[in-house]
Amino acid sequence: MNHNLSTTHAGAIGPQTPSHASFMLAKFWRRYDQGNLLFLAGVHAAGTVGAATYIALRGVSTAAVVAAVLLAWITIFAISAGYHRLFAHRTYEAHPVFRVFLLLFGAGAFQTSALEWAANHRRHHARTDTDGDPYSVTRGFWHAHVGWVIAKADLAAPTMALKDLRADPLLMWQHRHFVPVASLMAFGLPLLVGVLFGDPLGFLLVAGFARMVFVYQVTFAINSFAHLFGTQPYSNRDSSRDSLAAALLTCGEGYHNFHHAFPADYRNGVRLHQFDPTKWILFTLSKVRLVNGLRRTPAEVIERARQRMRAVAVQTSHARSAVALTARVAHVRRPALTPAR
Ligand SMILES: [Zn+2]
Ligand SMILES: [Zn+2]
Repeated sequence: MNHNLSTTHAGAIGPQTPSHASFMLAKFWRRYDQGNLLFLAGVHAAGTVGAATYIALRGVSTAAVVAAVLLAWITIFAISAGYHRLFAHRTYEAHPVFRVFLLLFGAGAFQTSALEWAANHRRHHARTDTDGDPYSVTRGFWHAHVGWVIAKADLAAPTMALKDLRADPLLMWQHRHFVPVASLMAFGLPLLVGVLFGDPLGFLLVAGFARMVFVYQVTFAINSFAHLFGTQPYSNRDSSRDSLAAALLTCGEGYHNFHHAFPADYRNGVRLHQFDPTKWILFTLSKVRLVNGLRRTPAEVIERARQRMRAVAVQTSHARSAVALTARVAHVRRPALTPAR
């Protein structure tokens, strides 16, 4: 394979290029976890090119689209309410029936077991924007978005203390049987529903693979996009941002600045008008005792944080005005240039 590459391109772009390209390819291959890389690439290829080709040739049924949207929404909710707000942050307690639901559908997103996910996420909060943060945005958009998932070094890094999670037998069951459980939920379920509707391959490609690509991209965006774009109404101590666009796609996870400021709060969109379906559903489930002990940050503490950030914004604005004024004064005082003879 490499030999063919050399002979094909050597004459056109110079004798050094093929060996350099092979070297770079080998370096790339060694640097990344090949299993994760191939799996993610395969899912993305099947969910984009595969699904698009199938739809172009055979069309797509309304039932397959509805199944894809429903499954996308449920898996994102399970990651948001389960992996994130319950297991990683312990912002509430959940009835075993609801924990099983979250663990099953969370596995359907194929983003590692809840135990591993929570371990990485606890490191992210404990060491945000440092080398100890597995998806630190200071290492660039690509790394924070997906690079860290396939980077060998980060996957091999030590995990945080997980004593509380290891004490949960349901969570440990999901961890031990993650691959079969995730395969069943991510691929088996769409396939089964597809059999019932007489279109197993269409359901697998649209509600399985294409849905997974969407869920991957929007949840990855919280680590990349929501640490680069948006506002900081609650804290400027790290790079996290509040973003309505990200919240709309992730059941409310996009209010990431509030979440980093108050990670023990079960809400991410804390204000009444903010789009946080996870918060609304958890609140509703608390009324039927499926969840309890919802943790909230006292309103006065949140208000103090907002006032502090308003003061920071005023100071920044004054500093910018002063810099602009100094630049204008310097420009006015500059002597006129004498025309050259
Ligand atoms: Zn978090
Ligand atoms: Zn974050």
